Amino acid sequence: MKNNEIKVLLAAPRGFCAGVERAIEIVEKTIEKYGAPVFVRHEIVHNKFVVDSLKAKGAVFIEELDEIDDLSRPVIFSAHGVPKSVPENAKNLNINYIDATCPLVSKVHREAENLHKAGYHLILIGHNNHPEVIGTMGQLPRGSIDLVQNEEEAEKYNTTKNQKLAYVTQTTLSVDDTINIVQILKKKIPNLKEPIKEDICYATTNRQKAVKNIASMCDIFFVIGSRNSSNSVRLVEVAKKSGCENSFLIHSESIIPFDAIQKAKTIGISSGASAPEILVKNFINELRKKISFKIEEVEIIKENIVFNIPKKLN
Ligand code: SF4
Repeated sequence: MKNNEIKVLLAAPRGFCAGVERAIEIVEKTIEKYGAPVFVRHEIVHNKFVVDSLKAKGAVFIEELDEIDDLSRPVIFSAHGVPKSVPENAKNLNINYIDATCPLVSKVHREAENLHKAGYHLILIGHNNHPEVIGTMGQLPRGSIDLVQNEEEAEKYNTTKNQKLAYVTQTTLSVDDTINIVQILKKKIPNLKEPIKEDICYATTNRQKAVKNIASMCDIFFVIGSRNSSNSVRLVEVAKKSGCENSFLIHSESIIPFDAIQKAKTIGISSGASAPEILVKNFINELRKKISFKIEEVEIIKENIVFNIPKKLN
């Protein structure tokens, strides 16, 4: 079916952030330097396409260090960060480890540590069981951080503790939801200490703003990204809240809803920080098989952030 009036609005920035680019480069450079296999603890970034292509180059993905069957091989920690116990265990086992934790996640780790040293009890705003949350909680002794996941939990947060309180956040949260959670906490804890510099990272913020900018103009919106990618899932929520209720995550097993697409005049597309641009291109090619359309990229800001890889890989 052909329909020349259809327009695709491509949100920009979208896709890979500097932390994801760096983590992938670390895996590739480690394989180059030490040969295959190279172990990677947890999906290096939450994207099946990326994980599968690194597997093909010689990466072996594991969840815990005790799955390593050859301790002479290097192991890489994923971009999401790890609890302190993980590098400690690697040292004890004499494993060559390379840390691909995004520097912006490490920044939150150091912040949490400094606040703890300064006598603060911490509140971490984030999602239970997400590896980044596990990593951040694992920077401090058990019981030093309380997790608050949403507004309801913020309302219920018990403030009877006679402690100085500070908060930090996961880097990939919804900016708007986090503002609401912080407001609720601040009403209960007027002296609640805030992070010196925003914990939600530049990439999360920019991708959400770019989606917000075009969502209300779209009849249907697609975010390319994996189901376990926090920032991709947040982009779908942002698109829905910003005026396009008809918003979907397109992951490796998604069935493209062509019936709904054929009724749309304007289609919005973005992708999460761990989704490569090739997946956006593939999706657009799939659409072209059924409909014709014009593409307009709507860029709200240029990103030029690059993170260096660890010196031992140079
Ligand atoms: S989304 Fe943000 S915190 Fe996560 S890897 Fe990318 S830049 Fe780092």
